[in-house]
Amino acid sequence: MLEDTYHRIIDYLRISITDRCNLRCVYCMPEEGVQTCSHDEILRYEEIERVVRVAAALGIRKVRLTGGEPLVRLGVVALVRALAHIPGIEDLAMTTNGILLARHAPSLAEAGLRRVNISLDTLHPERFRAITRWGELDAVLEGIAAAFAAGLEPVKINTVVIRGQNDDEVVALARKATESGWHLRFIEWMPVGDAAEQDWHARVVTAAEIRAHIEAELGALVPATVNGAGPARTYKVPGAPGTLGFISAVSEHFCATCNRLRLTADGKLRPCLLAADEIDLRAALRQGAGEADLKALLQKAIQAKPLSHHLADHIQVRDRAMAQIGG
Ligand code: SAM
Ligand code: SF4
Repeated sequence: MLEDTYHRIIDYLRISITDRCNLRCVYCMPEEGVQTCSHDEILRYEEIERVVRVAAALGIRKVRLTGGEPLVRLGVVALVRALAHIPGIEDLAMTTNGILLARHAPSLAEAGLRRVNISLDTLHPERFRAITRWGELDAVLEGIAAAFAAGLEPVKINTVVIRGQNDDEVVALARKATESGWHLRFIEWMPVGDAAEQDWHARVVTAAEIRAHIEAELGALVPATVNGAGPARTYKVPGAPGTLGFISAVSEHFCATCNRLRLTADGKLRPCLLAADEIDLRAALRQGAGEADLKALLQKAIQAKPLSHHLADHIQVRDRAMAQIGG
């Protein structure tokens, strides 16, 4: 079992498998001039598999593949198959923008992926194009349907709320989720990468504000539980199949219950999403590190986890884009 300096059990590894993406969401990447890693800089699948084996031996039980957009990396189904068979890994999930999901959901499920989180910030096609710069909403809705059909459940929907862009839609999204059996989580916009360069304070809509809007229209929400809800506080409209979660990284952080470690697309262990410290696992892997060396680096990263992040002190994360860290 892995325990950090503050007695938190760390059993969850999030892996960004690529920093490339087929969209350019306004809160994540600039429209043009995105710097991506070269093929050599990105961890190879065998390297990722080796890290997960060592991590599982230490006590990691849950792995999430993210990015960038994980479905744009060739051979991702083979990676899922390899990771799903590693002893100790009990939960293998993916976060995706859903654009390519309709095509891949059946083979991902067959390879051993348990479930997916799909990002969706609006139900209006024009607005979807404005937020993602060129995405087609229908492709994501087809992806969500394919995830249900393939049994990749619970299907979670990640919605970043941006003042002036989609905050007027939180009730409609909540209604759609509760009726459709989606487990939708409203996420506060975080000042990471490109978002940190924008006037982000003015654009954050707090979880409390979102919940108040929803309760004013749909009535009081009651607490609910969803498998793997992570940092979300989860509720439901009484009797409805879907649930509504609130992830308040900015207004009310949940660092005290943090259980995760991150691996960036270029092979750095990142103890905290919102702090710039990193440990170079790729160099070790490529310099012939043995299992004991890799275990020591994973343990070092866990001991380096800070007690909490410092967004409340107006500190922003500028060293990396969300797509490189994996969100
Ligand atoms: N491309 C995939 C996707 O969009 O689901 C996976 C990677 S994306 C970086 C992971 C999650 O981070 C997405 O749900 C996205 O909405 C969220 N995200 C990206 N930038 C963010 C920001 N500045 N604040 C809050 N959430 C953000
Ligand atoms: Fe791509 Fe996901 Fe970032 Fe949007 S949030 S640009 S889909 S990596």
